[in-house]
Amino acid sequence: MPTARYQAVADGVFCIETGLYRDGLAACYLIREQDRLAFVDTGTAHTLPGLLGVIDDLGLTPAHVDYVIPTHVHLDHAGGAGVLMAACPNATLVAHPKGAPHLIDPSKLTAGATAVYGEDAFARDFGALVAVPESRAIAAEDGQTFDLAGRRLTFIHTPGHANHHGCIHDAGSKGLFTGDTFGISYREFDTAAGPWLFAPTTPVAFDPDAWPQSLERMLAFAPGAAFLTHYCRIDEPARHVERLRRSINDMAAIALAQADQPQAERKDRIKDAITAHLLADARAHGCTLSDARMTELLAVDLELNAQGLDVWLKRQEKRGGA
Ligand SMILES: [Zn+2]
Repeated sequence: MPTARYQAVADGVFCIETGLYRDGLAACYLIREQDRLAFVDTGTAHTLPGLLGVIDDLGLTPAHVDYVIPTHVHLDHAGGAGVLMAACPNATLVAHPKGAPHLIDPSKLTAGATAVYGEDAFARDFGALVAVPESRAIAAEDGQTFDLAGRRLTFIHTPGHANHHGCIHDAGSKGLFTGDTFGISYREFDTAAGPWLFAPTTPVAFDPDAWPQSLERMLAFAPGAAFLTHYCRIDEPARHVERLRRSINDMAAIALAQADQPQAERKDRIKDAITAHLLADARAHGCTLSDARMTELLAVDLELNAQGLDVWLKRQEKRGGA
């Protein structure tokens, strides 16, 4: 078994490094109750050996996995769902009703990801997507609960970052697995003021109107912790939600400032504006990293946020809304 890199972050909750791009960028989680296991998010197809390594470290086998629960079907979260399901004979896939069909037939995800990343980078960073048999998949209703050896997991629908996004409340840890709905917070940006967060507006379904309601839904559980995919645990999420709300509005405003501008190279102008905004925001938070280092750490997000806001603007314009 390859060395698995993971840490216990709560009672029966393990945060696992997926290895995507760089350490500290994308995590996934394993919940353990007695000898039963549930994964929340999966990393990519390349993450599978690491996930099996964690199971082995715990003295268990893939047959002990009851659930594989991607928060949404972006590939940093669900790219490995198919290969993980194939490795775990007793597991049921639990996903948002708008996401589950794309894990059962991943052809559209493959095409979409190829469009965003390009064919070579897609193959290198994510590997091939493997279909999940329909008979092993559950499209989770809003509020549907799942039993992990007596530990209650509640799946709630949380649109905003994506319309196929769900979050999972874990009664065992009183924590919430937030995927991308509680934003991105890289630990490198922590300061005396606490964690720094921003809103990821990844293509293609950013929805700044739906997002705040999803945050209300999440906070109604009074979670003691948020387990973020990007990256790891944040305590007392209610204390940081205002920063995230502001970031959602800031991102929409950056896009809307370009609404009347020509579409040629608009994405690049949005990217420049996001870069300036996030660096200034991190500075105001007390971050002392160099501009070059911050830009390096945020490189993937700056590009994806710019693409997503450009797509969102086009959608607004089609509706005559912008
Ligand atoms: Zn993500």
